[in-house]
Amino acid sequence: MLMKAVKKLNKGKGVEITTAAIPEPGPGEVLIRVKVAGICGTDLHIFKWDEWSQKRIKPPVIIGHEFVGEIVQVGFGVNHLRAGQRVSAEGHITCGRCKYCRNGQGHICQDVKLIGVDINGCFAEYICIPAVNVWPVHDDIPDKYAAIFDPLGNAMHAVMVEPVSMKNVLIIGAGSIGLFAIPIAKANGAGKIIVIDPNPMKRDIALKVGADLALDPEDSDLKDKVISVTGKNGPDRLLEMSGSSSALCVGLDLLGNGGSVSLLGIPPNNISINLAEKVIFKGITLHGITGRRMYETWYQCESFLLNHGNLIDPIITHCIDIEDIENGFRWMEANEAVKVLLKII
Ligand SMILES: [Zn+2]
Ligand SMILES: [Zn+2]
Repeated sequence: MLMKAVKKLNKGKGVEITTAAIPEPGPGEVLIRVKVAGICGTDLHIFKWDEWSQKRIKPPVIIGHEFVGEIVQVGFGVNHLRAGQRVSAEGHITCGRCKYCRNGQGHICQDVKLIGVDINGCFAEYICIPAVNVWPVHDDIPDKYAAIFDPLGNAMHAVMVEPVSMKNVLIIGAGSIGLFAIPIAKANGAGKIIVIDPNPMKRDIALKVGADLALDPEDSDLKDKVISVTGKNGPDRLLEMSGSSSALCVGLDLLGNGGSVSLLGIPPNNISINLAEKVIFKGITLHGITGRRMYETWYQCESFLLNHGNLIDPIITHCIDIEDIENGFRWMEANEAVKVLLKII
């Protein structure tokens, strides 16, 4: 039996809408019929066939890792899930045996495999995934939100690593994860939220979802404008979502003494920063943020979506059929779209 699937078939730009065999769930696995999926920046990297994907991706592979669907079959030994359940899933498949898996830090597993990157993903009619990765979706969370637990979880992890309550937060980079971080920080009782991004459409969405100030990094009064909102001590927390080295330097400059940084944006190259002046003497704490905490972040996202889900609506800019996926990539590439959802069935 064949299914529709979006594959990275060749080394080079683009993806193919093609067919693949419907996978069969092995012991401990479930087969899920995918309903809605989200296009991530990672998928765009793979589409563009940039340096990172050339090193990491081994075609052919079905791409995609953000989704909601319905269980159609459970494998041997899976007793806690059943056909018909609406589910999403953690896309990081951990080894379960390494030091970090065993001490509750599966997000930094030494032998992690990513769906849609290392193994077949969810831009297809069906996906097979270990039952331990499956997240049953609460009835009151609609598909459009359930499909994006994964990137929402990245934002949640970045915000929650240190308290934001009554603190001023600076977010650099207003892609979907940076934008999700705004209502999450607000829901956590943050003080002022300032966003820096070069794209006017994204700055506009940032304001719509609760930012107090959205600035262009080229603004010559950037520092004064941040100080006018946060007071002379500057922001207490920095969420670096852009991966830009100049942006990180600006953020560290603005950050107040004793502040903390969540580093989530992936810089393409080595970054040079004045550690002594910008980090050590200021008493700054740096946190590397990867994936989602399993499964604490998922419970936090569930609570957020149940209570504040509608706040993220302006971030979901497009919903298209899977056949039109190439348009989705083009819009993202041209900075005309933020979160693009794919209807699979
Ligand atoms: Zn993603
Ligand atoms: Zn592990």
